[in-house]
Amino acid sequence: MPTHNLFSVRYIEQKKEVICYFKNNYSQIAKRFSFIPYFFIDDSFDFEKLNEILFSFNIKNFYLDHVNNKKCVFSSSYLVLKKISNIIALISDKKFIVLSPERVFLINKDWSYFDDFEINENNIQKIGFNINLNFFDYYISNISFLEALKLNENKTNLIINNYVISNFLKIPIKQIPVESQGQLEVFLENIYFSNAYPINWKINKKFFKSTNFAPYGAFENISKIDFSSVWLNSLTNTFFNLGPDTLNCSCCKPIKLDDLNLLPSSLIEIIPLEDNLFFISTSNNFSNNFNSSNPNKMFRLSKKKEFFLKNFPVGPLCSKKAYLIPIDDAKKLLDSKKVILGKNHLTNWFCKKNESFVSKEIKKLNSLIILLEKDLLKYNINLFFEKDFNYYFKSNLLLFLRKISLELPSHLTNPISNFFEYPLAKSVYSIQESILCKFVEFSEKSGHRVVYSNNESVFVKGHSSLLLANNFAVCMNLPKPKISEFSTKTCFR
Ligand SMILES: [Zn+2]
Repeated sequence: MPTHNLFSVRYIEQKKEVICYFKNNYSQIAKRFSFIPYFFIDDSFDFEKLNEILFSFNIKNFYLDHVNNKKCVFSSSYLVLKKISNIIALISDKKFIVLSPERVFLINKDWSYFDDFEINENNIQKIGFNINLNFFDYYISNISFLEALKLNENKTNLIINNYVISNFLKIPIKQIPVESQGQLEVFLENIYFSNAYPINWKINKKFFKSTNFAPYGAFENISKIDFSSVWLNSLTNTFFNLGPDTLNCSCCKPIKLDDLNLLPSSLIEIIPLEDNLFFISTSNNFSNNFNSSNPNKMFRLSKKKEFFLKNFPVGPLCSKKAYLIPIDDAKKLLDSKKVILGKNHLTNWFCKKNESFVSKEIKKLNSLIILLEKDLLKYNINLFFEKDFNYYFKSNLLLFLRKISLELPSHLTNPISNFFEYPLAKSVYSIQESILCKFVEFSEKSGHRVVYSNNESVFVKGHSSLLLANNFAVCMNLPKPKISEFSTKTCFR
């Protein structure tokens, strides 16, 4: 029996139903489902109290119930749901995401556009995403996919890419944001929605990222070590278990400086034992902030020149006065007995008990990437497998997932995002700074010269950088960076 692809989804408010249109080469089937849109709220809300508050605002046409054991607000009207979400935001500081009824329906069923279905009288079963060839008709009719590919491969690939993004983000092709930042926002909307997590509703502090300037001139035998997959995997619970739900949790507050769940964004109070103490911070961001907000700028500038430093040193610090400095710096100064430990720290930590939903979603992405890589292998090793629509669809999906997952960590530190939250962004960024700093130290200890590093890559001189990257990951218990390039001659600008 031929399968059908889900072609379009429409919610009809008056009838409280969703109509799904399924299509294949021969026929189109419309199926109706009773459905009432909803959004999740967290367990802190008491149904009775919330009912009272909403009635007092004269809100009708809603009710409170559960979906998958999570508390929800239901209403047949999208506008009423939006209004209730805004009321909740104003009374509680928590802004829960309201998605279009069609998207909520798809998330609820775990279906998406262009998924493949077996449809009987009473039963509809999703069987994956094998797309029937004629789906190409969506854009160009009367031309087969393979013909289109021959005529214009680039354009054909672009069309397939739209199918891929629509399928992954559960939005119609017409609603796909042009920029990848917008696509990441839709992805985050879906995961924050499904995990009943509110977006940030406070006014955020500004966030600065420091930049390293590339050196002049040509350098011989340079390996480029790519850290972008490290940034992604460092957020999972194998390493830092970072997410808005696990940052500074109430159950795992650290008590000692060497507790493993302390994040590098923690600021530790120290008191110098000598006057005029200077040190070089592990965090460029901290150095820059210290320099711009403290007196003696000229003094630091001359020290920077005198010692050929890349960044401003931190200092001069006076004895008997307390300072808050990054935890990695504090540990070094305590080891060298130049300071004593104060009491008033500003710590950040991650939860050791529950996995963050960000970590769960990253793992899902990683396993989907591995699945697609395996699936695509058969086309490359077996020449009898014709490169059909599915091959192109899956290749494009793989590229899209890699892009989304590599851009996710830096998107969480982008103040323009709706999902930007200062403490989380600061922690994500401080992890990156700390790992890069540790890598530079590790390289230098093992006789490698780091010529330059930016936010994604480190450029190391020498031939054995693969071994260096492996050893670093094993010794430091961190994700393994990748060697992305080796060049006998490199110019940075
Ligand atoms: Zn905890």
